[in-house]
Amino acid sequence: MEFIRIWTEKDIKEIQDHMLIVDDKFGFCPGCKQMGIALADLKQCPQCGREFKYMTSREKGNRGFNIVKWALKKLPHLTFVDAEDYDNLTGKKKAADLFNV
Ligand SMILES: [Zn+2]
Repeated sequence: MEFIRIWTEKDIKEIQDHMLIVDDKFGFCPGCKQMGIALADLKQCPQCGREFKYMTSREKGNRGFNIVKWALKKLPHLTFVDAEDYDNLTGKKKAADLFNV
């Protein structure tokens, strides 16, 4: 099996509401700021109950790709979102909210 990035059209709010941030070993819930969440069989935040459907990582390059592979093995039911895309879109949304567009 190979890893491939797939483009799709999504509601950024829906992604934001179900996002999990992953690093080397653990997850972070942007909803309640809970850190150090164990990833094995993770479906929702143990603290606030947020349902996770998407994940992303701030790591870049080879290290980032290793996290993608590792996290998808641990959490095959989640979709891995490219951090750059996610930051661009959430940044855009923040600006739009600010100007009420
Ligand atoms: Zn949470």
